[in-house]
Amino acid sequence: MTIKLMRINQVRSSQYGIEQFPIPEPDLLEALDTFIAEMRTDEPYVLGFPANLDFSFSRFAGLLDIFVNNVGDPDSHEKSNVNAKAMERSVVDFIAELANADPQQVYGYVAGGGSEANLFGLDRGCALLPEARIYCSAAAHYSIHKSARLMRKEMVVVACDDQGRIDADALARECRADPGRGAVVVATIGTTMTGAIDDVDAIIGAGAAAGRVYVHVDAALSGLIVPFTAEQESWGFARREVGSVAISMHKGLGMPVPCALALCRAELIDSTVGAEYVGATDSTLSCSRSGLASALLWYALAAKGKAGLERTAHRALDMAEYATRKLADAGLRPTLHPASIVVVFDRPAEWICRKYHLATEGSLAHIVTVPHVSEQIIDELHRDAQLSLR
Ligand SMILES: *Cc1c(COP(=O)(O)O)cnc(C)c1O
Repeated sequence: MTIKLMRINQVRSSQYGIEQFPIPEPDLLEALDTFIAEMRTDEPYVLGFPANLDFSFSRFAGLLDIFVNNVGDPDSHEKSNVNAKAMERSVVDFIAELANADPQQVYGYVAGGGSEANLFGLDRGCALLPEARIYCSAAAHYSIHKSARLMRKEMVVVACDDQGRIDADALARECRADPGRGAVVVATIGTTMTGAIDDVDAIIGAGAAAGRVYVHVDAALSGLIVPFTAEQESWGFARREVGSVAISMHKGLGMPVPCALALCRAELIDSTVGAEYVGATDSTLSCSRSGLASALLWYALAAKGKAGLERTAHRALDMAEYATRKLADAGLRPTLHPASIVVVFDRPAEWICRKYHLATEGSLAHIVTVPHVSEQIIDELHRDAQLSLR
């Protein structure tokens, strides 16, 4: 297993000074090797953040000497033609099907991350319903707030129910206060802190009080998990009101660079958006986009196939249940929502939070059982927790 992660506890830029004259190559290489070694050290203990670190892409070294740029729409030609768009289209089609769409009816691209994919989806929703406010739950990701701010849209934050999902009654009350304008509602499929999955049917019912409802599905966290649970056939584009879906790829899949799938119904795309200078049409939020990310994604998905993704998802779900049992045994009172890989528990001693890179919020901590999280590390956490409580 090879794993990578940047150490974030100390940022010392002075170590990486750039000067008037070239730094000699041996010094540069030494600095690089030290950087890589430092990043590797802590990796097995990174439990609190949802990025799968179990991957290897060293075969891609050759591609680092080539500029692979996917300018514009994945299905659009462009003048330079040094791109990985054929791979990108295949990735989009594959993920669209996982999200219960007919690939022919969906537009999508590989975005820089889940936040960009959320902005893309919300922009499409707000274009369809220009009078509508944006509704989300108190547990929604902060990128939703950023998007609303960038679009100068009014944002309504609705309370969560006791399961961590958007409170449909509270949503209905807010929507009743604003009839006729329609509602753009974010359904979070796997909230960042507790992994709760919003009830999209309840959202559609509640939103109707405002008029037409557009649902943007933020599945950044659990978009590669829910296709292999009881939600399999009903999630994503299976519901007519869902206009867009965002899925982070560096979280569940494991990638050396951040990236995400931005998907929306094809009819929400204005195909006249052209960029003459590059010779492409472009409905994405960027101009240049990473072809490397698309090539990496194609490779990772093709190597696993749907069957491999399913195995990975079930392993993560099983590990979450295993961790829940172990943490309960250690007296940390864990909770685990259905179809979730986020285990929330009482915040343990500070040295444990640091050792395992736990995400914390007030008196709570959580771990995310992405594929690099092993039984062995959970057992070690269990021992440490018992030790500190003694
Ligand atoms: C991580 C996350 C995001 C942001 O995704 P990035 O790829 O980190 O930009 C958005 N929404 C949810 C629910 C997330 O968990």
